[in-house]
Amino acid sequence: SALPPPRTRIFKIIVIGDSGVGKTCLTYRFCAGKFPEKTEATIGVDFRERLVEIDGEKIKIQLWDTAGQERFRKSMVQHYYRNVHAVVFVYDVTNAVSFRSLPAWIEECKQHALGSEVPRILVGNKCDLQDSIQVGTDMAQQFADAHSMPLFETSAKNPNSQGDGSCHNSDHVEAIL
Ligand code: GDP
Ligand code: MG
Repeated sequence: SALPPPRTRIFKIIVIGDSGVGKTCLTYRFCAGKFPEKTEATIGVDFRERLVEIDGEKIKIQLWDTAGQERFRKSMVQHYYRNVHAVVFVYDVTNAVSFRSLPAWIEECKQHALGSEVPRILVGNKCDLQDSIQVGTDMAQQFADAHSMPLFETSAKNPNSQGDGSCHNSDHVEAIL
């Protein structure tokens, strides 16, 4: 008789950062393979999934995307951080405010998700917009080092943008997620 298929392990990864940095576009791109035609502001929590194969094992990557709005966060936040395997902090390289918000997001995460035992990465999104950079790579790298996180600069829209829209660390969103 046939053995039951092995259970697919699920990796829960939460994506955090200010509203507008591209969390929905990044998760959509990773799961649907393309930049969304149009996105609506996320309400509450959305999650998207993609099956990947790692060392011959099929693994379900579950990306949790949130709304930044306070009124949703208050009720959702506990649920959101439960049993998290990894955290992705996102800022927008064309928006210094979104970079300055990172310490607050990191603090929230520390309080809810078992301190720093959970793997965390830092993602600077929208690096296709090279003419509007407000957060330089050096500054971001210093911040990432200070918080012991790897930094990836990328673009949900045009992850292969070269010709000096070149995305420094990672030229594909899939490499980060
Ligand atoms: P969220 O609030 O963090 O979920 O941000 P969204 O994913 O809704 O994106 C906010 C806006 O930024 C939308 O207008 C997107 O089209 C745009 N956007 C997201 N990612 C990128 C990117 O990599 N490059 C560019 N140029 N625009 C982006
Ligand atoms: Mg969103």
